[in-house]
Amino acid sequence: MSDRPETLFSKIINREIPADIVYEDNLALAFRDIAPQAPVHILVIPKQPIPKLADAESQDHALMGHLLLTVKRVAEQEGLTNGYRVVINTGADGGQTVDHLHLHILGGRAMAWPPG
Ligand code: 5GP
Repeated sequence: MSDRPETLFSKIINREIPADIVYEDNLALAFRDIAPQAPVHILVIPKQPIPKLADAESQDHALMGHLLLTVKRVAEQEGLTNGYRVVINTGADGGQTVDHLHLHILGGRAMAWPPG
């Protein structure tokens, strides 16, 4: 159990607010972004409310690996055979707006580089 405060995404995990959930297991949840920036835009989150990547600790290493493998699984499920982008915005300069670690999966179109 965590003593961290409940986040917006915790409320999605707990079904207190609705979301289009595309994958769930005991450690992770994946759901469609409410403001999609690509034809496919899905967020993969840990059920454990780690606020941001910079707060992950060595004890979280298996969970962090699980999140990446969940990205791969969801991307396959979504048919993103031509590739996709994975983004973790971290902290203020990273553009993070929700303080619950999340991995963006963006796909269905070619991505530009560098990002803004
Ligand atoms: P960040 O900017 O923190 O990297 O990404 C947060 C993402 O969460 C944004 O892409 C935003 O559109 C998405 N988001 C914010 N509130 C909600 C919500 O209530 N439901 C869903 N599905 N996505 C949300």
